[in-house]
Amino acid sequence: MIPFNIPCITGKEETYIHQVLSNKKFSGNGPFGEKCKDWLEWRLSSKKALLTPSCTAALEMAALLADLKAGDEVLMPSYTFVTTANAFVLRGATPVFIDIDPQTMNINTDLIEQAITPHTKAIVVVHYAGVSCDMDKVMDIAEKHGLFVIEDAAQALLSTFKGKELGTLGHFGTFSFHETKNYTCGEGGALLINDSHYIERAEIIQEKGTNRSQFKRGQVNKYTWQDIGSSYLLSELNAAYLLAQLRAADTIYEDRMESWNHYAEGLQPLIEKGKIDVQQIPDECQHNAHMFYIKTADLEEREDLRAYLDRKGIMAVPHYEPLHSSPGGEKYGRSAGGEPLTKREGERLLRLPLYYGMESEDVGYVVEHIQKYFKE
Ligand SMILES: *Cc1c(COP(=O)(O)O)cnc(C)c1O
Repeated sequence: MIPFNIPCITGKEETYIHQVLSNKKFSGNGPFGEKCKDWLEWRLSSKKALLTPSCTAALEMAALLADLKAGDEVLMPSYTFVTTANAFVLRGATPVFIDIDPQTMNINTDLIEQAITPHTKAIVVVHYAGVSCDMDKVMDIAEKHGLFVIEDAAQALLSTFKGKELGTLGHFGTFSFHETKNYTCGEGGALLINDSHYIERAEIIQEKGTNRSQFKRGQVNKYTWQDIGSSYLLSELNAAYLLAQLRAADTIYEDRMESWNHYAEGLQPLIEKGKIDVQQIPDECQHNAHMFYIKTADLEEREDLRAYLDRKGIMAVPHYEPLHSSPGGEKYGRSAGGEPLTKREGERLLRLPLYYGMESEDVGYVVEHIQKYFKE
């Protein structure tokens, strides 16, 4: 069986975890956590990175930093993971769902402005499959209307837009280190603060509402309750695992890119014959080989192909159910315009196996059986 995903292990994880055991420092923002933050700040040229228990937690922190409350509206694509919306619903805000651009499955930036009301406070963009939105356009709209921009870059670490790292372009950027992402520690995430005005408050929110970070740096001689907050720290055990992954980031990137390019070349004849579509990478975007998906004619064909591949021992998987028509979305959110393309394109989409260390023969085997399916 060729699985959809195998979590990445690069070699140094065990060594680093053993160092945590001998250091006997297990809580958040310890030596390994600091090294991961330094790596992110250096590699992404970011002002400030914080490690969080998940991308979900990082999104919750962004919602707190943006001071969102009941009645506020947050624009986001309907085609995304549940927590992109839930992080804001937890603050009482209303997600307003916008249709996607079928080329990238990202928020359709042409539909953003018409969805803005006097209650709109933020735009959350999702860089689906590690491919950027038109961030110039998003930032222009946000500036004109005085809105926060939060990049849900869960899938997009080391992707760029016009040469600039994703996650560093909005006010806040969030990453995921869940085991299904390119760089992982089981469960984990990061928040980038791109407007230095919010750094101090972010550190307080992350440390249960206290100024413990300042205390640890010797800036104050005791720490006290300052603001609202929660426990948004990543354990040192996870950070040790993560550091091994970050230090091997180029190796992981190149390995995944090789499989991605193999799929792209192998499936080109089917694309040319009009049998399938694949993701489009706009010229100004460099992706990170997070995902390779194909699109069939419709839902029926996708399910048929998926069952066929399953019989051949290949696990290919669909992705999101549109949020606007889900029970939670109907209860807590609002649809901006029905989102017909989110439904139609989501139903055609099938993600192919892709993971670090995937054998070239296995990629070839998947390609071969997709070709066979369309011949039969
Ligand atoms: C994976 C993912 C998340 C959630 O990440 P966690 O680290 O599991 O909380 C959020 N948004 C998007 C777009 C994702 O792909």
